[in-house]
Amino acid sequence: MRLTFKGGVHPPYRKYTSENPIKEIGIPEEVIIPLSQHTGAPAKPLVDRGASVYRGTKIGELQGFISANVHSPTSGKVKRVFEWPHPVALKSLPAIIIEPDGEDTLDENIKEDADYLNASPQEIVERVKEAGIVGMGGAAFPTHVKLSPPKEKPIDTLIINGAECEPYLTADDRLMREHADEIIQGAYLILKAVGAKRGVIAIEDNKPEAIEVMERAVRDFPDFEVAVMKTKYPEGAEKQLIWALTRRQVPSGGLPMDVGALVQNVGTSRAVYHAVRYRMPLIERVTTLTGGALANPGNYLVRIGTKVEDFLKMAGGLAEEPVKAIMGGPMMGIAQYTLDVPILKGTSGVLLMTAREVELPRERDCIRCGRCVEVCPMFLYPTRMAYLIKNKRFEEAREIGVLDCIECGSCSYVCPARIPLVQYFKYAKAELRLLAQKA
Ligand code: SF4
Ligand code: SF4
Repeated sequence: MRLTFKGGVHPPYRKYTSENPIKEIGIPEEVIIPLSQHTGAPAKPLVDRGASVYRGTKIGELQGFISANVHSPTSGKVKRVFEWPHPVALKSLPAIIIEPDGEDTLDENIKEDADYLNASPQEIVERVKEAGIVGMGGAAFPTHVKLSPPKEKPIDTLIINGAECEPYLTADDRLMREHADEIIQGAYLILKAVGAKRGVIAIEDNKPEAIEVMERAVRDFPDFEVAVMKTKYPEGAEKQLIWALTRRQVPSGGLPMDVGALVQNVGTSRAVYHAVRYRMPLIERVTTLTGGALANPGNYLVRIGTKVEDFLKMAGGLAEEPVKAIMGGPMMGIAQYTLDVPILKGTSGVLLMTAREVELPRERDCIRCGRCVEVCPMFLYPTRMAYLIKNKRFEEAREIGVLDCIECGSCSYVCPARIPLVQYFKYAKAELRLLAQKA
């Protein structure tokens, strides 16, 4: 029997690009580096118009405890520091705009440490912090913060998340198939940094090749094992993965460290390896570019800061006019109003969908079928929460758990009345945040 959680759904997975090897995309004519690509405070710019930068030069410094550095993805000149459309905030935010010189000269501070596997836990955390690494599965939480739990919250179990349960996305699958050695070394460094005893690489059973190569890779690392998970959405959600693997329930409003667990995505694990071994900052990532509108869907190694418009041109352009553009997967991704937005550290996929792929919602009244309750992996009561939110009874929605909603979209997916339940929950959370700020 495969490991899994309670609830969840089985959307059509449409992982069309799983057999497409990772291809490197070139350097665009302009890169846009937002100062806020992570949870927490935006970075403070360290450069101004006309400054020369190199591949890996730090151009923005973290501010405060939860924040992350940002770096130039190539060599060139800073054109300006200006507001630019942001794919997560859905408004313009400050960004550093760079004109590449085409040389791609490496910053002189980026040097290999041949003895990297013997780096101390403090050195590992410091290099991860300096490299600006954030969670690459989408959440973009600064990794050095996750690697520094307080003493009273020891971590005993590290979970490396290779579930990739979102439909369409295949970047993590390809990473595991092509870079298993780097992922396991990064995982070993993370395990060492937090002092965990056990490491688990969690992969859904729809990725047999990835399971096979990761099982080979862990043979040299006795603290690690591969766990084969049932293919079900949202198997890769942090709390669901922890429960499925350890039977520990993260408390309401709590964090994985409250139950001695730490979850890191496979891409993050590889980025940690590069940061500790080469002191290489997070300036590029593997992203799945997919959807029916594309001429050449695939998995691409792309520089952070490449505009989606340029990315898709460099990848062969469009076969059809898209009706919807999403950053991330179709269940939890964010619909975009412009293709001018840049690829961020947390952009796992870009989805350009045709009219055939997009089901236009026609909301009707709730028929009280209870399907949303059955599938909710957080054991919430989505229909009741939506009713309260529609009537602006936010405080009551909070009391029955809307803040515990992980926004997986499973309830919206199964709802026969096409009620955009998850949109109501996002709206209520924003309203409750505003009310808390006012209070
Ligand atoms: S209520 Fe939230 S957690 Fe539950 S299924 Fe809906 S979106 Fe997912
Ligand atoms: S799935 Fe939709 S129609 Fe059924 S109870 Fe939930 S909100 Fe109502």
